[in-house]
Amino acid sequence: MTNPNPDENRLVLIVEDEPQICEILMTYFEREGFRTVTARDGELALMHHRSLRPDIVILDINLPKRDGQSVLAEIRSRSQTPIIMVTALGQDLEKLLALNMGADDYVVKPFNPLEVVARAKTVLRRTSGSMNQIEAIRVGDLEIDTSAYIVSVSAFGKVATQIDVTATEFRILSHMAQAPQKAYARSEILDTCLSEDSDALERTVDSHISKLRRKLEDAGATGYFESVRGVGYRLKSR
Ligand code: CA
Repeated sequence: MTNPNPDENRLVLIVEDEPQICEILMTYFEREGFRTVTARDGELALMHHRSLRPDIVILDINLPKRDGQSVLAEIRSRSQTPIIMVTALGQDLEKLLALNMGADDYVVKPFNPLEVVARAKTVLRRTSGSMNQIEAIRVGDLEIDTSAYIVSVSAFGKVATQIDVTATEFRILSHMAQAPQKAYARSEILDTCLSEDSDALERTVDSHISKLRRKLEDAGATGYFESVRGVGYRLKSR
């Protein structure tokens, strides 16, 4: 049976500095079962995108602190989150189209909020097939693609660096990334991630983690693993 409302619980990030427009969009999206979060400027938009991983972003172009185009470029450098750009009539549209910067759609102000919601649904339908195959977990600047077995680091505005990890290191990292901040006992990491190695001792966990930590640091991702005294380790989202 198909889900009668596939948009239920989808998170939409609304980036808009005009409170009234923001309010209207929130109302219409929530009425259709979406969850919403808003950002009034470009910097906050990027922060929310990193930490909340919205399913779709509605992005105004003229924004304080960082404009919509720069926010779009930044998001595109590290993810495929669907983005609908909002532009004022005639103002930025040509530039946007010419730059072909990777927005999935655009709407022109003044818009009908129903139309924005409809476009968002269309974009989500179109992209959900390919999105489902990318099973990536994000922790801070780390991206762990559990279908491709790839770990990469993407610092602000930089191209992602792939990190060469062993299968065990990958299991440890992806396991711990499912609950950042949680303190994992060595025994748990041993049972879950090193089960193939029956001779492995708890100190084997230390050795894997110290190698992993070094590889991350070499790629510029420092401070992710924290030792928890008498317990084991935690992965910090920073
Ligand atoms: Ca604006």
